[in-house]
Amino acid sequence: MKIAIIGAGFTGLSAALALSKNNHEITVFEKDEYPGGLAMGYKESLWNWGLEKYYHHWFTNDKNAISLAREIRCEIVTKRPKTSIIADNHIYKFDSFFDVLTFPKLNMPDKLRMASVLGLLRYNPFWKPLEKVKAVDFLQRTMGNKAYSLLWEPQLKNKFGRYADDISLCWFWARIKKRTSSLSYPKGGFLEFAQKLVSEIKKRNGEFYFNTEVTEIRNVNHSGKRGTSASRILIRCWTSQSQHDGKEVKSKEQKFYFDKVIVTLPSFLFLKIAPQLPEDYRRRLQNLKGLGALNLILRLRQPFLKDGTYWLSVCNKNAPVMAVVEHTNFMDKKYYNNEHIVYLGNYLPNNHPYMKMSANELLKVYDPFLRKINQNYQLSIINYQLFKAPFAQPIISNNYSQLMPPFETPLKNVYLANIQQVYPWDRGTNYAIELGEKIAKIISRHC
Ligand SMILES: Cc1cc2nc3c(=O)[nH]c(=O)nc-3n(C[C@H](O)[C@H](O)[C@H](O)COP(=O)(O)OP(=O)(O)OC[C@H]3O[C@@H](n4cnc5c(N)ncnc54)[C@H](O)[C@@H]3O)c2cc1C
Repeated sequence: MKIAIIGAGFTGLSAALALSKNNHEITVFEKDEYPGGLAMGYKESLWNWGLEKYYHHWFTNDKNAISLAREIRCEIVTKRPKTSIIADNHIYKFDSFFDVLTFPKLNMPDKLRMASVLGLLRYNPFWKPLEKVKAVDFLQRTMGNKAYSLLWEPQLKNKFGRYADDISLCWFWARIKKRTSSLSYPKGGFLEFAQKLVSEIKKRNGEFYFNTEVTEIRNVNHSGKRGTSASRILIRCWTSQSQHDGKEVKSKEQKFYFDKVIVTLPSFLFLKIAPQLPEDYRRRLQNLKGLGALNLILRLRQPFLKDGTYWLSVCNKNAPVMAVVEHTNFMDKKYYNNEHIVYLGNYLPNNHPYMKMSANELLKVYDPFLRKINQNYQLSIINYQLFKAPFAQPIISNNYSQLMPPFETPLKNVYLANIQQVYPWDRGTNYAIELGEKIAKIISRHC
């Protein structure tokens, strides 16, 4: 069976690998130059390892990702980096129940209350009843006003902005339930892991078209060799090529026909390329909300978080940054030419003013906040770079199980498997890999 996969993120790559193992003819179209999607990495000339455009790690219980990495002999590094919060301009280590109980900004009854709520969520195996409850209501009610307004309200507001009040307790539960103190990372970075997957798929005769943007998918009646007519799927795409002067030109349009197609793009992009989709289905997908991502990466000569913190959650509703992630407090700086690498992360709607700013402009906005953490960081800047993604975090509102789109679409033999179908867990490469494997099984059953 000739199967096309649109998108070489981890959903597309894992579906491609699973289907190519079943001897299907696989073709993957990817608009970018490299595989990996949101987890894609890049490499500066003096670095030995690639670095993700957006901070990435695995939890040690991310079974699908870890077993796939082992299967293709991609080595994994596991460490226990330090996680902290910043509240009232002070950094507190915050990655164990002991840290919760010794947190100085709350009294003992409040801390015990918060620790019991977190413990109950962690050991509760049932997510379904939680999807009917809003996280803000539950956290305020069970943890009390002080803990809620000091710690959880600012984190929810910083992450989800105007959607914070809509987030379901199920999303919060998934975050608490899944997190592990030790974290894992593929040796060489996620780009290397993705490239190894591409090689495995190519070994099984899978074909890749990088720099190739799919612009249209349609059901058509395609005439066969002996004048027979069969229902197939037409894919139109454009492959971009760089000219010597660095300018991009679009090459001639190409057309392909397939028996089945898997679309791994976020739903709003699927709607753009599939004009035959009916109105009611369009409305359903349009109702799914999401946020884009904005990461400013600082390359420094000196550490930024001097206490060795890897992950710093910002508990201040007015801060311009949601999280500060010092990658080289997790992976050794020797892989990055001894540079200290810091991500300044935000999830934002695409019309937010920050999404239109340059790296320079954004650093100016962030600077007063950053100076409060490290007065002299500017002196050690080697360079900085900005990455933006239009869709990175689905809004998991109440009863999301009923909102989530199905795999089958109104287009015959066209399947949707994307970031908005990861539930009840929070999206991540582990679940993208699981999703790819799941859709491959469904398609193999239909063949
Ligand atoms: C800031 C941030 C932090 C994260 N942290 C982590 C983490 O720590 N751990 C973790 O496991 N996960 C993390 N994630 C989530 C993880 O990156 C995603 O869940 C996962 O990569 C989604 O994979 P996907 O294949 O479903 O989608 P995507 O990665 O979005 O892949 C879709 C692919 O389709 C391509 N495409 C789009 N349009 C077209 C077109 N018209 N034609 C051809 N190709 C097209 C895109 O270029 C992309 O490669 C993070 C994400 C972000 C943004």
